[in-house]
Amino acid sequence: MNTTRSEVLQFVQENDVKFIRLAFCDIFGTLKNIAIMSSELPRAFEHGISFDASAVQGFMNIEESDLLLFPDPSTITVLPWRPQQGRVARFFCDIRHPDGRPFEGDGRTVLGHAIERAAQLGYTCKIGSECEFYLFELDADGNPTLCPQDHAGYLDVSPMDRGENVRREICLSLEEMGIAPESSHHEQGPGQNEIDFHYGDALAAADNLASFKSVVKAVALQNGLFASFLPKPLKNVSGSGLHINMSLFRDGANIFRTDGVTHCRDAESFIAGILRRVCEITVFLNPLTNSYHRFGSFEAPKYVTWSHQNRSPLIRIPAAKGEYSRMELRSADPACNPYFAFALLIFAGLEGIRDGLPLGEPSNFDLLQVDLSGRRKELEKLPETLGAAVELARQSAFLRSVLPETTIDKYLDSKLAQWREYSIAEDRELFERNTYFE
Ligand code: GLN
Ligand code: MG
Ligand code: MG
Ligand code: MG
Repeated sequence: MNTTRSEVLQFVQENDVKFIRLAFCDIFGTLKNIAIMSSELPRAFEHGISFDASAVQGFMNIEESDLLLFPDPSTITVLPWRPQQGRVARFFCDIRHPDGRPFEGDGRTVLGHAIERAAQLGYTCKIGSECEFYLFELDADGNPTLCPQDHAGYLDVSPMDRGENVRREICLSLEEMGIAPESSHHEQGPGQNEIDFHYGDALAAADNLASFKSVVKAVALQNGLFASFLPKPLKNVSGSGLHINMSLFRDGANIFRTDGVTHCRDAESFIAGILRRVCEITVFLNPLTNSYHRFGSFEAPKYVTWSHQNRSPLIRIPAAKGEYSRMELRSADPACNPYFAFALLIFAGLEGIRDGLPLGEPSNFDLLQVDLSGRRKELEKLPETLGAAVELARQSAFLRSVLPETTIDKYLDSKLAQWREYSIAEDRELFERNTYFE
């Protein structure tokens, strides 16, 4: 949708919108916002609204602390869970320095560069995500517990499944916000749910994922529940992944379209490009110490391989026809910053196309089962800890060629500090619960 400023101002006036939330994500993907009164909106469009960027982790320092938020008119949405008189509208913002330069640490800016690079090569990348999350009960004081909302499993129905009403409300709220959920179901774990999105432009897909998380949290709370996007909140049951489905369109045609056996050479190179770089960028796809407990069981990958229907490799090419043809990356988790994650995947895939990288043999066997023939031995593995992932990212020339130096350093310093704290914690589980759960 290409909404203009004047259309937005008219909408605000006609729809009793009193508050405007100017939203953005910090470098870790945490959603932030500042609310302005709707009368301030013309000024926000014209001059931006400043905030103290030294107080946002990973943004600026004290000496150079001002950044400005410029609402992107095309992202306007009314928040359905806020009062419907004196309504609240929300925009995602582009972040700029006071002299007008785009702020290089802004995920929307970075993803914008990846989209531009794709366009230069004649491609439009479409992304559809599948996001898993857990619903937990609250205690008497309203604090989250680790008691899942139900004990249902994959695709179970009521009365086993107690999530149906929450999922219904989430999907209806998303629709009201102009975000198209495609399907929803109970997942494998107790209290675990999943909602899948229709594919769309990469930037909208990232914005929508950021919105989605706040919708899920808000609706859960209204239902007396706590929603967690932690990759592995409970031991010995399924973790929560963020499957990222990607396709590339060239002259209106999806190059992932297949006759069932072969793929377009560029589609294969795109996948090969991601496989080549995936370990170096894993710290951006799987950002928490907790992320690494998820790999290698319950259909979460561990090896850097690809395949068709098999659900154990990192990249799968699902059985889908026509415009729905795509590749599915299965390693990322919902704790990632979607802007950086999508940008890095697009850059890595395009680099594969540029280099005409051949795609190796598929791994059409179950990688998560004990392997008697030793076939797995020579396969490359994803990093096994946050510390190892930070190390691989530090050495990555690719990463430095696509993300700004200061952002990489701030991000990796913070991740390394987290890894060190975790490593020396007397009770690591408690550390993760205190650091990540709420
Ligand atoms: N929960 C699994 C993961 O961690 C995925 C399982 C599934 O979607 N079938 O990625
Ligand atoms: Mg799914
Ligand atoms: Mg799933
Ligand atoms: Mg999937």
